[in-house]
Amino acid sequence: MDASRILADLGILEQAGAGDIEVRSPISGAVIGRVASHTAADVDAALARAHSAFLVWRDVPAPRRGELVRLLGERLRKHKHALGSLVSLEAGKILQEGLGEVQEMIDICDFAVGLSRQLYGLTIASERPGHRMAESWHPAGVCAIISAFNFPVAVWSWNAALALVCGDPVIWKPSEKTPLTALAVQRLMDDVLREFGDAPDGLVSLVIGDREVGAQLVADPRAAIVSATGSTGMGRAVGVAVAQRFGRAILELGGNNAGIVTPSADRELALRAILFSAVGTAGQRCTSLRRLFVQESVHDDTVSRLKQLYGKVPIGNPLEPRTLMGPLIDRQAFERMQDALQRARAEGGKVTGGGRVSVAGLAEGYYVEPALVEMPAQTDIVLQETFAPILYVMKYRDFGEAIAANNRASHGLSSCVFTTDLREAESFVSARGSDCGIANVNIGPSGAEIGGAFGGEKETGGGRESGSDAWKGYMRRATNTVNYSSALPLAQGIDFRLD
Ligand code: NAD
Repeated sequence: MDASRILADLGILEQAGAGDIEVRSPISGAVIGRVASHTAADVDAALARAHSAFLVWRDVPAPRRGELVRLLGERLRKHKHALGSLVSLEAGKILQEGLGEVQEMIDICDFAVGLSRQLYGLTIASERPGHRMAESWHPAGVCAIISAFNFPVAVWSWNAALALVCGDPVIWKPSEKTPLTALAVQRLMDDVLREFGDAPDGLVSLVIGDREVGAQLVADPRAAIVSATGSTGMGRAVGVAVAQRFGRAILELGGNNAGIVTPSADRELALRAILFSAVGTAGQRCTSLRRLFVQESVHDDTVSRLKQLYGKVPIGNPLEPRTLMGPLIDRQAFERMQDALQRARAEGGKVTGGGRVSVAGLAEGYYVEPALVEMPAQTDIVLQETFAPILYVMKYRDFGEAIAANNRASHGLSSCVFTTDLREAESFVSARGSDCGIANVNIGPSGAEIGGAFGGEKETGGGRESGSDAWKGYMRRATNTVNYSSALPLAQGIDFRLD
């Protein structure tokens, strides 16, 4: 696949030709573009323009705002293949997943268009005669979006599609590892804005750079909402900075997701689901399966069958149709994986796989075998998120013990159970079950649909994006009490009058 042709197809060949950030494809290590960082003055100007845009956009009727998002969805449909290919080239995902990521953008656009006619609040019974009490939802202000490398375009769309119909301009700071896909999306958006006709200047903008650029957005009170996706370390810094100025943060941070295999599980189904969620995207999804608890009566058989499947995973160039596992994002990711495996061994683990794989013609890419690690218990390394294809497998005896083990991680993003026992299934998703934002039965922890609210608890940050009522995070709520009588009764029956 020719990078220049894709960049040309997406209209960013010239823009991706010069700048201080050198973009390398994890597939081959080759430089596929150069992008210029924005200065502090550029970021300041983008915030000023976005704030001015807010004063106009908040008055545009929401269904008309939805039309902008409808046009974006249409444009994405036309460019799905080119953009999906660029996702593969820049992030190293297999093409199916690159295309899937763009499909997710299209899906959230469709969702947001419908939502643009459903931003409604409650009417609440008032205790006072002649009074009406209601909730109204209003645009909240500029939404700054900070995104991670592993979902280089979908995360922007989850936020942008909702924010735009909710009346909020957006400024995007993508990962410094994936600026080309961001340039391509902004280019598509610029075309859409032109087609739309009367959108205010500065409504949708992009600032490129490292964490300094992100930190500038986070500190600025003009960014009413900061939606930040990335590691828990990043969220710790961003959460504090936003809280200090009483801004609103939507934090989508790390995960250490678990699965439970019970004796009644449909084992074929479970094995396929485990393979997809532990090995897919080379273990570089926030929802990747990292910890597996297998009931002792089915443990040995499950592990030996998993090992067989692990041995068959086609690893290599993610652009080739047969490949199921592409490279890690870079050398640092590879080194972190090797460190984790070394620690796992020191903590009593038995490691199968995990070594570097050489792929003909792609010597600079960091390809690895997925690692399966049989652990005696949840040691320190098991309780950390290592962003790589490492699956720690542990035994359990009774189901309550497995739920407690699931909940022991400091993160709380996603989780799943494989069972055909109704009691186990229901207790896993009940109040005393999994403490994660996502709790699944008979599917893996990854690969969420956009219709549900996405996000997690504890060190995952607590934010929710995408479907359900996540839109409320992008609006401000006003409680309105209207007195249409000529009396002035006070709430709680308070008598307050001059004699
Ligand atoms: P990262 O934390 O290194 O970077 C994420 C983004 O934050 C980048 O754009 C980076 O420039 C920016 N950033 C870093 N420090 C910052 C600061 N102090 N202020 C402002 N911006 C800052 O993450 P990564 O390596 O790109 O992505 C992998 C991590 O992201 C994993 O932990 C993964 O679980 C998580 N992730 C979470 C979700 C989710 O929805 N929960 C989705 C994708 C990835």
